[in-house]
Amino acid sequence: MDTILVVNAGSSSLKFEVFSIEGGLHKRLKGQMEGVGTAPHLRVKDGAGAVIADHVFEPGDVADLPAAMRHVGAWLVERHEGRLVAVGHRVVHGGPDYTAPVLIDEKVIADLERYVPLAPLHQPNNLAPIRAILERRPDLPQVACFDTSFHRGHSAVADHYAIPEHFFAEGVRRYGFHGLSYEYVAGRLPEIAPEVAGGRVIVAHLGSGASLCALSAGRSVESTLGFTALDGLPMGTRCGQIDPGVILYLLDQKGMTAHEVQDLLYKDSGLKGLSGVSNDVRALLESTEPSAAFALDHFVYRIGLNAGMLAAALGGLDAFVFTAGIGENSPDMRARISDGLRWFGAALDAQANARGDLLISTPESVVRLYVVPTDEELMIARHTLAISGH
Ligand code: ADP
Repeated sequence: MDTILVVNAGSSSLKFEVFSIEGGLHKRLKGQMEGVGTAPHLRVKDGAGAVIADHVFEPGDVADLPAAMRHVGAWLVERHEGRLVAVGHRVVHGGPDYTAPVLIDEKVIADLERYVPLAPLHQPNNLAPIRAILERRPDLPQVACFDTSFHRGHSAVADHYAIPEHFFAEGVRRYGFHGLSYEYVAGRLPEIAPEVAGGRVIVAHLGSGASLCALSAGRSVESTLGFTALDGLPMGTRCGQIDPGVILYLLDQKGMTAHEVQDLLYKDSGLKGLSGVSNDVRALLESTEPSAAFALDHFVYRIGLNAGMLAAALGGLDAFVFTAGIGENSPDMRARISDGLRWFGAALDAQANARGDLLISTPESVVRLYVVPTDEELMIARHTLAISGH
């Protein structure tokens, strides 16, 4: 059995999936090494969702992502019966030039290292497993799939900040992220919602990271995320859109260092910062703290505002699609967000929403509302299969 490994490396976790490729892609394994460097824990499930591995490691044994990749690799060699023919990686930043997934070689790695300053918290983690695999298995084709590529068709007007032009040439521009998720959802729409696939659609990727993407006939024309994954909607721990003057204030008046500001905006803001309770929407929905309810109100309000902005980019709206952890699993949040879209003519069908149907708007609704589960790993596996030539 020939297989493809998909690797999604975050700051302290390494997620992976294995797909067999005979007769189409089939998910065989799904696992993650969490708590890298602190409390490493490897869990793997088979294609049917049964747990087939559950190991706790000493922090020193899995101190960093290359070590996590070595452990996962060793586990796969020992336990996985397939023959690995290619590896696909999620890479957050493809810069201005990588408009599509690419077969990795030394030049590609050197290019992607240039984008580390553009995504200092994510890009090094994405590159570490690539190098770890290259060292052990230089023969194995590796493919980089970018969160930015799907948005590279945006107009220059959309991609610019109103600062002197030379910054744009240096790479200071609006990139947009969550592109693999949006590409997957855009690819599903012609099959499951052909009546809107050719029209004006906003997709809301609402997970621990959150953004909206405006699709015109399936192509991304606007995103709430910009230069970094900090912009747009408030997220689990990230601030979302903020007046740059606040950052100047923190630096000048509060004497914070750039690093402290970075930590504040990436790790201690968003739902966590506002509520003081949690970054997890489930915990906020259950909490009786007024600050938890306030944080959710703010989140819903900002989604409504940003939806208006993206609808302006599209010149109207035919459909709004919910996806990712919050969008797929929380009827309560979908109802609140849909309420903010009523002025567009969106009317939620409460029963369909409670059931988590694909179509959750009423037949009269002017804007159709959908729930479409995303699958970034499958998207990466597809690209990897196509590019590695198997
Ligand atoms: P990521 O892959 O970025 O970690 P996910 O798409 O898995 O994110 O989304 C994770 C988030 O989804 C969690 O932080 C949680 O807030 C939210 N979530 C998951 N299930 C539910 C649920 N049943 N109700 C509300 N929120 C949920």
